[in-house]
Amino acid sequence: MDATGPRTEFSRVWIGYLTVGALILVAYYLVPAEGTGLAVRITLYCLDSVSAAVAVLYGLYRYRPRPRLPWLMLGLSQVVYAIADTSFYLAHYAFQVMDYPGVADPLYLSHYPLVVAGLLMFIRRRTPGRDLPGLLDAAVIGVGAAMLSWLYLIAPNARLDAPMVVKITSLAYPVMDLLMLTIALRLILGGGRRPASFFLLTFNLLAFVAADTLYVSQQLDGVYQAGNFLDAIWLAGNLALGAAALHPTMARLTDPSPVRETAIGPARITALCAAALIAPVTLFVRNSAGDFTDISVIALACAVLFGLTIARLAGLVSDQRRLAITDALTGLHTRRFFEAQLPIEVARARRSGGSLAVFIIDVDHFKSINDHYGHPAGDQALIEISARLRGASRGGDVLSRYGGEEFALLVPEASLSELHSIAERLRQRVASSPVAVSEDTWIAVTVSVGAACFPLHGDSPNELVATADRALYVAKARGRDQVVVGEAAVPDTSTTTDHTAMIDYLSHVADEVDAQLGAHDHSLCISRWTMTLATALGQDEATARNAELAGRLHDIGKIVIPEAVLTKPTALNEDEWRLVRQHPEYGYRLARMVPGFGVVADIIRQHHERYDGNGYPSRLVGNGIRVEARILAVCDSWAAMLVDRPYQPALSVAAAAEQLRLGRGTQFDPDVVDLFLDLLREGKVGELRRRETTSSGNLVLPPNMS
Ligand code: GH3
Ligand code: MG
Ligand code: MG
Repeated sequence: MDATGPRTEFSRVWIGYLTVGALILVAYYLVPAEGTGLAVRITLYCLDSVSAAVAVLYGLYRYRPRPRLPWLMLGLSQVVYAIADTSFYLAHYAFQVMDYPGVADPLYLSHYPLVVAGLLMFIRRRTPGRDLPGLLDAAVIGVGAAMLSWLYLIAPNARLDAPMVVKITSLAYPVMDLLMLTIALRLILGGGRRPASFFLLTFNLLAFVAADTLYVSQQLDGVYQAGNFLDAIWLAGNLALGAAALHPTMARLTDPSPVRETAIGPARITALCAAALIAPVTLFVRNSAGDFTDISVIALACAVLFGLTIARLAGLVSDQRRLAITDALTGLHTRRFFEAQLPIEVARARRSGGSLAVFIIDVDHFKSINDHYGHPAGDQALIEISARLRGASRGGDVLSRYGGEEFALLVPEASLSELHSIAERLRQRVASSPVAVSEDTWIAVTVSVGAACFPLHGDSPNELVATADRALYVAKARGRDQVVVGEAAVPDTSTTTDHTAMIDYLSHVADEVDAQLGAHDHSLCISRWTMTLATALGQDEATARNAELAGRLHDIGKIVIPEAVLTKPTALNEDEWRLVRQHPEYGYRLARMVPGFGVVADIIRQHHERYDGNGYPSRLVGNGIRVEARILAVCDSWAAMLVDRPYQPALSVAAAAEQLRLGRGTQFDPDVVDLFLDLLREGKVGELRRRETTSSGNLVLPPNMS
């Protein structure tokens, strides 16, 4: 049989079903409710009810949902419901038996547990694991509804002067409806796909609850009349269930939710607000009417709603925190978390006289994985490598994604003797077997590991990372897929002369970038200003020197960006922007190759961060950005504004000063801007000219390095 042909034709059956159903509904109200007309009406009503049961069972047969049980439960519940309807009308009109409770009531009541069981099965399938937010939201609305139900349906029924069996039956309906509503809300507000079938089922559930509630309330007020508008709601509810089961998307209602939803849409917020306001508004209404019964119930509802709201808030806050410290691709910690943890652990080790180890792990030839198998395959490899690294580390370790395909591991209390074995364990675990990057592609992946330990290889977080990084560099140079521990392995133990040579070399790189940009001497001028500002801000000598060095080298990362992009006369496209925005990171990587340059590298990495947290690459905020970087940001922008750029002609000094003022507190540290403008007025900074005295452009080393 052709699997698609008849199915697509059949896929519109639900529309036909709804159309015929709507005609039946209209006919129901057109037929007079007496004599033969009454018999026709009853037949139409029961036909509608039975048709929904048949539709669910037919949909089950036709679309074969996996699992079948949730839909089967809904189908059974509708069978029971249709039998209840039929027996109600037969008893009422054929046999004139008006007893309450009658033969139909146990049937009506027993359809509820079947619905609830079916809904719970849907929920379990759609939202695997825990979904506390969905549960709390459903509880908020459920509590609001429960309070109303109690005040206006349950309590008045319980107070009625009637035989026990009547009372119990009258109470059972609102209680069952409440149960069904709460579970339905859990389904509606939970995760999972929402195809047309889902909305039809939602309509069915809410229609039943609404009609049942109005029915009980009309009964209480003695205004209920058989055949009034409520029948239309029940009939439409039946039709919605039948259509939901005949809709081709019915089999997808049990699909598990692909993502955990964290966003709260406007509809949900409105529903939650309305639910939370139910209790206070009711209190107000009753107070105005001078009705003080059941005040304690309303107070209890208020308290529970408060409790639920606070619980939801606490959940949101902890979600935010988790997201901030979790890398989205690999689920490991972020670099930011690692960098926050490292100083804490170093301080702890220093206090206790203990040790601690840092490992930097870089995937070998990762670029070629991307090139050969595509970026998604690269991502898949990163996920698997992360899982293997996590498997090779222990509970108290901090494993983070340090960069694109670079990871950092912090192991508290690891001593020198353990460094090599831990690093080997990481390396071997990754290389243990090929990594699956798609269903039928497996590739061999290796990593190189650089390790350093406190206090032997470095006394500060920066030194430790720099040492581990240099060790990694050596591991790469020696052929990759290997481990190198600490400073000892660096081939040519650093000397001051080497550092000077390296700084000279990087200074030439800075000049080369300036020349490419047609902005000769920029970095020289900027380094002079950063030094002047840092000193004027009262920073110590080392900080001022670091600011100067970072000012000199801040743009070296641009050397890896194609000249065509750097000097493009027209606006950059998105890819080109992404590339340009990587220069602080590249600059950081180049600078940290120089022993002792951890801080300078950090400043370079942070010089495009913004005071308001909207900068890059790490969106650091306010004083979370190093002071030298905040100074550098102002100086760099100043220099940029004073020259012609491809996309913007040079500003006048006054206009540029105004721009700095406008950026106070948003782009820039306000104190730094104020100081800069003061020093500008005094002629100490801001001039884009080389000073004769520093014509060599050589820099003095910070005191701790010479
Ligand atoms: P080496 O052995 O020297 O480390 O070589 P490599 O190719 O691994 O080194 P390189 O640092 O040049 O390449 C890193 C590549 O990682 C470049 C970048 O495109 C890729 N990359 C960075 N982040 C991601 C990511 O999130 N997903 C994917 N698929 N690739 C990434
Ligand atoms: Mg690599
Ligand atoms: Mg790398």
